[in-house]
Amino acid sequence: MSSCKGPIYLDNIATTRIDPQVLDAIIPYLTINYGNPSSESHSLGWDASSAVEQARAEISKAINAHHSHQIVFTSGATESVNLAICGMQKKASGRHIITSTIEHKSVLESCARLESQGIEVTYLAPQRDGVVSPSAVYDAVRDDTYLVSIMAANNEIGSIQKIEEIGKICLDKNVVFHTDATQAVGKIYFDVQAMNIDMASFCAHKIYSPKGSGALYINNSLKKIILEPLILGGGQENGLRSGTLNVPGIVGFGHAVRIAMETLQQESIRLKGLKSIFLENINVDHDGFCINGHHQECLPGLLNISFLGIDADSLLLEIPEIALSAGSACNSAGRQPSHVLKAIGLSDANSRSSVRLGFGRFNNEKEVKYVCLRINEVLKKLRNMVPTPFITK
Ligand code: PLP
Repeated sequence: MSSCKGPIYLDNIATTRIDPQVLDAIIPYLTINYGNPSSESHSLGWDASSAVEQARAEISKAINAHHSHQIVFTSGATESVNLAICGMQKKASGRHIITSTIEHKSVLESCARLESQGIEVTYLAPQRDGVVSPSAVYDAVRDDTYLVSIMAANNEIGSIQKIEEIGKICLDKNVVFHTDATQAVGKIYFDVQAMNIDMASFCAHKIYSPKGSGALYINNSLKKIILEPLILGGGQENGLRSGTLNVPGIVGFGHAVRIAMETLQQESIRLKGLKSIFLENINVDHDGFCINGHHQECLPGLLNISFLGIDADSLLLEIPEIALSAGSACNSAGRQPSHVLKAIGLSDANSRSSVRLGFGRFNNEKEVKYVCLRINEVLKKLRNMVPTPFITK
């Protein structure tokens, strides 16, 4: 069924398969051009360094950064977020930061670390559609607020935040604005200058490049941002992130971003089309499911759907030939209902009945129809096993 061996992969929000073009670009940096970009005395080092700078330029162009040196390479979005939030040196008067209750754990845990150090954190709740109101951000800013961190698009329900409006508020109030753009870069319109973003975290493995490569965009031309490095050593990345650079990962990242930007519009239409095909073919009447998150302002490839009265884990167990996720993959090690679904007001039961479908570059209509067929069969079977469904919408 799937275009490559293994299950039909509908978990493209958790991670993605490497694009063959990206793989082709990486291989020479594993085999022939294996130099260390910090080696300044021979051609292998120069080649590696120039490949890294090319990727840096490609990535900075994709997000419309003013200069490629505003990009710091890291091991992934988690590290970037930690560097931005925990590494930021606050102004003497700074005591308070603002974030939302639907952030990724990398943001929430970084904020928790700061709380343990005496910083106050305001956690803004989103509306029912998963969007954080910019006016709530405006109202929450205090004289001692030094940082706002609101994600660009949510990884569980796909809701796209009003980043441009929040950026403007932060500009006017002279507060540093960081956004976790992990699910946005290469997928939706994202422009750090137009959106007045001071720092943005993102990574390569969500856009068809290998895991282990990420970036932090830092613009300290408007506001003075001083970051304390989390990793000390040889002083790479302007001293902000020591350690030998992951050259193959960075080369892949650069290629992946370029391909994603070149195909963004048509791919967005195609993925929305796959979502529609899924919804047309899923055999559940309107009372039997609800779509979680914003219905329009949503990541093109993400559909979070609760099959009311059905335990999502039981559903997934019945379809081992399909890889998708119950709730967020980042949380799936724990058995707690998703903090995001809770934050948008879902009951625990409806949250446990939620499935996240992540359509991606290598999925096609035939696969989606097959998935619907299998889900329809399993829903019928499971519903017959449950005498009185606990349906609450
Ligand atoms: N932020 C968001 C919104 C994510 O979806 C993820 C990963 O799922 C991360 C951060 C962490 O990214 P990484 O796996 O690169 O550490």
